[in-house]
Amino acid sequence: MIPYGRQEITDNDILEVEKVLRSDFLTQGPIVPKFEKSVADYCGASNAIAVNSATSALHIACLALDLGPGDWMWTSPNTFVATANCGLYCGANVDFVDIDLNTYNMSVKALTDKLAEAEKSGLLPKIVIPVHLAGQPCDMIAIYELSKKYGFKIIEDASHAIGASYNLTKVGSCSHSDIAIFSFHPVKIITTGEGGMALTNDEMIANRLTHLRNSGNTRNKIFMQPRPENEIWNYQQIELGFNYRMTDIQAALGLSQLKRLDKFISRRREIAKHYDKAFDCLPIKVPVQLKGTLSSYHLYPICIEENKNEITQKEIYNILWKNKISVSLHYIPVYLQPYYQSLNFKRGYCPNAESYFKSALSIPIYVGLSLENQNKVINIISNSFLEYKQE
Ligand SMILES: *Cc1c(COP(=O)(O)O)cnc(C)c1O
Repeated sequence: MIPYGRQEITDNDILEVEKVLRSDFLTQGPIVPKFEKSVADYCGASNAIAVNSATSALHIACLALDLGPGDWMWTSPNTFVATANCGLYCGANVDFVDIDLNTYNMSVKALTDKLAEAEKSGLLPKIVIPVHLAGQPCDMIAIYELSKKYGFKIIEDASHAIGASYNLTKVGSCSHSDIAIFSFHPVKIITTGEGGMALTNDEMIANRLTHLRNSGNTRNKIFMQPRPENEIWNYQQIELGFNYRMTDIQAALGLSQLKRLDKFISRRREIAKHYDKAFDCLPIKVPVQLKGTLSSYHLYPICIEENKNEITQKEIYNILWKNKISVSLHYIPVYLQPYYQSLNFKRGYCPNAESYFKSALSIPIYVGLSLENQNKVINIISNSFLEYKQE
């Protein structure tokens, strides 16, 4: 089976994890802060808070920006369900902004129009969550300018985009957002098994994220309230938090992987370039890179365009699976999921996201993909255009 994505684990990764297993601390010891500092330094952000998943990071990021009942959170429909769910966890209303058919990211035009409408009805969002799909950064300057005009906060869902850059800064620097989040799930660029991180340049937000991942507890004297001298108070719960902590076992794997991040990105970009060339003459739209951006190529989504032989996305999907290539689709528009349908979203709500959904396929891209296997994928796709329906 050739998967669409997978982790790369080396002997050194295993050694680093083993060291933790033989040490004094299994969870949140000395390695978690080391991993946090390394990621923050890599991205150029002042704070990084490691948690047990990107889903958790999104949840506490929304809470740290005071999202609650009655508020609106907007995101892209072309994302993993967790990006939308975090708004619902906070009791807020969630809505979707259609995508741009060039980048498959949230459309700035659609966002601009929707904000103007929302202002009239007094239902402006408190938070907007752009998603850097496949590792292609969104137009953050434009979204940032809109946030200043309309007064919303920005959380970047950068689950796909560690190692990508925008305008000469790394994604995660938060130069145009309040918080950026990463995922370290095994199919993502670097992995900790399960894991996530929230980055921010705001000290207050960083403190709240730190409390929220740890049941709302603090040992920091700055936040603790005065108590009688003769009582022992070595920690205090100051808000309602969760156990979203990352373990040192996970952080050791992450730290070891981080050392290879730049190598991972250049390998992914090499694979992407090979696909770009191979599909040049076929009715396939390959991922674009906007000027001034560098994609991390977490995914390589192709869109099957109209063609003479009328081969559809679904048919190519089936052919690839028959040949033991487990292609995937990123993503089914979130609001078409049965759960979101029960919240009354209608088919046709975001036409671009739906048209992408009907033509896109995520084909294999990962560090360990051999040239031989990549060529196999290319040949099967190319041949399916040549041979199909010629009987
Ligand atoms: C993977 C992913 C998430 C969730 O990440 P977990 O670490 O699995 O919780 C959220 N958003 C996007 C866009 C993702 O791809």
